[in-house]
Amino acid sequence: MSEQQTEQPGRRTERRVVIVGAGMAGVQTAVALREQGFTGPVTLIGAEPHQPYDRPPLSKAVLLGNAEGSAFDIDFEALDIHLQLGRDVTGLRPGAHELDTLAGSVPYDVLVVACGAEPVVLPGSEGVPGVHLLRTLDDAARLRPVLDEQHTVVVVGAGWIGAEFATAARAAGCEVTVVEAADRPLAGVLPAEVAVPMARWYAQSGAELLTGTPVARIEQGSVVLADGRALAAGAVVVGIGARPATGWLAGSGIALGPDGSVTADDALRTSLPDVYAVGDCASFPSARYGTRLLVHHWDNALQGPRTAAANIIGAGTGGVQPLTYDPVPYFWSEQFDRFVQYAGHHGDADTLLWRGDPADPAWTVCWLRDGALVAVLAVGRPRDLAQGRRLIEAGARLDQVRAADPAVPLKSARADAS
Ligand SMILES: Cc1cc2nc3c(=O)[nH]c(=O)nc-3n(C[C@H](O)[C@H](O)[C@H](O)COP(=O)(O)OP(=O)(O)OC[C@H]3O[C@@H](n4cnc5c(N)ncnc54)[C@H](O)[C@@H]3O)c2cc1C
Repeated sequence: MSEQQTEQPGRRTERRVVIVGAGMAGVQTAVALREQGFTGPVTLIGAEPHQPYDRPPLSKAVLLGNAEGSAFDIDFEALDIHLQLGRDVTGLRPGAHELDTLAGSVPYDVLVVACGAEPVVLPGSEGVPGVHLLRTLDDAARLRPVLDEQHTVVVVGAGWIGAEFATAARAAGCEVTVVEAADRPLAGVLPAEVAVPMARWYAQSGAELLTGTPVARIEQGSVVLADGRALAAGAVVVGIGARPATGWLAGSGIALGPDGSVTADDALRTSLPDVYAVGDCASFPSARYGTRLLVHHWDNALQGPRTAAANIIGAGTGGVQPLTYDPVPYFWSEQFDRFVQYAGHHGDADTLLWRGDPADPAWTVCWLRDGALVAVLAVGRPRDLAQGRRLIEAGARLDQVRAADPAVPLKSARADAS
């Protein structure tokens, strides 16, 4: 069965936009299309059965039972956005401009791929009772009783999700051990100089962090480490990263990167005509940073859709120069009673500059490239983050002596302001 759009006489036929994935990026694309004046049909298809919801609260208020859910406060009906929930898209046939689902094919004129990411699974852990992931509302619902019943918990992976889950589990009174294969938390994201001080936060909260500790296997009730030790675990939470959920695009001809991301261009168009990609599933080339970025954070799932929506509308009206997507990426994390924020993108060769002492509750680090600020990490210093983000956007150079003084507002540390 195929859903056809009927053309009414005297009415301009508007292109049908179909969005795959009803998470933040898919929802924001639909909303941005309406906000920017698109009046054609918009269909939002999501595999999950729930009303579209926001993910960050899942490892925070929802997990702790301080919020029942995190559904977006959006009236889809009023916006004339056609929601199809609990519907898994299984394939894309670009020649026919059609999607496949178990319930039949769905035609599109313009397609937006917003299928997000899925957690990396520890080999052999699937199906073992008591092993959890934390990506979806259902995952969070399964983890609530673990916290309520104050299980002894082993967390595999000291990344953002591992740290946030450990924070919530400690707050709920669980005994928590975090095992991490690398020699520090956030090893793939932050240099040792920055991440090693953050490792102390675990102990301060009463969680035990075991670094340099690969897991050999998970059995029911225990995590067996590579060195032969076995940690008793009432529950295990695996947080070892996420990969774009792009398996369903295999064979469609859409270009994917080695990381599984849809390799969009700087206008968020994919290699297929009339197909765009946004959010956790899509990477894009950043002229600002001279590299392709795959960003798995909330702000990217908010900003990218605005550009994609503008470009969909622009392409429909013909001849308009597409908008370029080249953001200063931003994210935050709430862990161990600290508000951690990061803006920008840094590489190993960039110069690290400290503002404050990492032993203190609040501090900031900046990364400079050829004297210009390219990234900032602020712990409990939201002003540094806000000012730093604007300086990065402006490509501002910093006076390094002034910038290193936490008493000097970051915006006053511009090289051209001193
Ligand atoms: C627990 C948790 C806490 C987080 N906390 C923070 C935070 O504090 N700060 C921050 O910056 N970021 C945070 N993030 C990251 C942020 O939530 C994500 O970057 C954001 O949700 C990405 O949105 P998305 O729409 O691209 O992808 P998703 O949110 O993954 O949504 C994609 C949707 O598409 C659906 N889908 C996938 N494939 C198909 C298919 N074939 N057919 C139909 N539907 C499909 C999926 O079921 C999913 O519902 C957190 C993420 C998690 C999981």
